[in-house]
Amino acid sequence: MGDYVKFLGTAGARFVMARQLRYSAGTFLCLQGQRIMLDPGPGTLLRCARCRPPIDATTLDAVVLTHSHIDHSGDVNAVLDAMTAGGFQPRGRLFAPAECLDGPDAVVLGYLRGHLDGITVLGPSAVYALGPVGFRTSVRHRHPAETYGLKFNSDAGVVAFLVDTEYFDGLADAYEEADVLVISVVRQKPHPSGSVMHLSVDDARRVIQQVRPRQTVLTHFGMTMLTADPRRIADQLSAELGLDVAAAYDGMALELREP
Ligand SMILES: [Zn+2]
Repeated sequence: MGDYVKFLGTAGARFVMARQLRYSAGTFLCLQGQRIMLDPGPGTLLRCARCRPPIDATTLDAVVLTHSHIDHSGDVNAVLDAMTAGGFQPRGRLFAPAECLDGPDAVVLGYLRGHLDGITVLGPSAVYALGPVGFRTSVRHRHPAETYGLKFNSDAGVVAFLVDTEYFDGLADAYEEADVLVISVVRQKPHPSGSVMHLSVDDARRVIQQVRPRQTVLTHFGMTMLTADPRRIADQLSAELGLDVAAAYDGMALELREP
């Protein structure tokens, strides 16, 4: 099987996560045979075991965190423990911003770190490799935690994950090379307070319009998005922009094929 992405969860805000209206599990990537768990939020291990076909977390090659928030990291220790067979089989790598590893918001238990083949600290706009898979980070996002988006090389070209951020000038520039863009759209409309550092549909439209990816997938939905129906919003964006825009659902697999 070629490269693919599997959305184990698509929840994106506190109430959607708290009530599990959508699962808050992470996103599984299979790229060049490397098995990567991205942002393992609460329930990731359970969704690995229960999705069809199941994902064997003991065979993961790496865990990648974009930031420390609980909907992105709640299951990180459980997944690292599974990847290393409880420490009996030291293996696998962790990639994470420094804030996930040090300081008051560190999320990775110390005793698990010694079970890994290596820990790489992510910084802004840098290049990394996991075996044959190359990837890059974006500029630092505007979000209350140290946050970077990710751009992986794949069979389908660059598959980018534009995770939590508020909109800012230069955001779309940081994702210009994306052939497939997975974008976190938490809110249907901007929060009236203006202080919620997440993208709205209007923000996402601006990014998609500039980047013009071959394929766009909306995910990480908050309550206002679920009420508005993500599929309807994706269809509207497709029609408006003349581009392929879809809404992720829990368990959705996205095959990454050569164009
Ligand atoms: Zn966040």
